[in-house]
Amino acid sequence: MNRKRWIRWAVGTALVGLGLLVGLGKLSRSWTYQLFGEIYPRVETSERVVALTFDDGPKPGQTEEILGILKRHGVKASFFMVGRRIERSPELAARVLAEGHQVGNHSYSHRRLVLKSPSYVQEEIDKTDALLRGLGVQGELLFRAPFGKKLVVLPWLLSRSGRKHITFDVVSRDDETQDVGLLTSRVMESVRPGSIILFHDGGQDKPGTVQAVDIVVGKLKAQGYRFVTVSELLALGGITPASGTITASTAPAAN
Ligand SMILES: [Zn+2]
Repeated sequence: MNRKRWIRWAVGTALVGLGLLVGLGKLSRSWTYQLFGEIYPRVETSERVVALTFDDGPKPGQTEEILGILKRHGVKASFFMVGRRIERSPELAARVLAEGHQVGNHSYSHRRLVLKSPSYVQEEIDKTDALLRGLGVQGELLFRAPFGKKLVVLPWLLSRSGRKHITFDVVSRDDETQDVGLLTSRVMESVRPGSIILFHDGGQDKPGTVQAVDIVVGKLKAQGYRFVTVSELLALGGITPASGTITASTAPAAN
């Protein structure tokens, strides 16, 4: 190869490599697309229904405050819990379930499940599944990836066992700011029938989240929205549970 051709080849290869990296980064972050299996950022419906979801708990204090607000408004939500935190606060996790909310799997240790071995990823799923079953969670166990990140292995493992990956189409980004006005407007501007809304009840203390959830629920109710669990939302969109399982917590719980 002469020098000119070599440079062209090197630049070309570098560009393809860079493009591939950017593409993989985009793929890992996509809320709406994955290589295998089912991913649901929302559900297609004309009914004014939404699913509120809370990630990273259970956390004493914060989760309890959220539960209080949900109870006051008489609405049900879905909590994607981290296995390690269930072990730390099993009574609180059980209380979330007892109050009629759906509880899903958000991995065991909340590490990014990309560029990890299949056995590592499977263990992250299985350990939390076992904890959820131990709490008494029945039926289909929904999964949400830590940081919403996935590439090849996680979607492949989930699809192999007929598991659904639940993401979101409305994010408050309450892990970045606790400005109540901002959190509220972000949700209100992007919510629509069938939306799955993301807040956090775990992590750093989030007094802004607690207030924003109160405001958002009030505003959406005033607009005629109903709040359902993710499994109820999927059912409304005609999406059936994986074969061989029954729908999780679709029975209307007392409140
Ligand atoms: Zn998370």
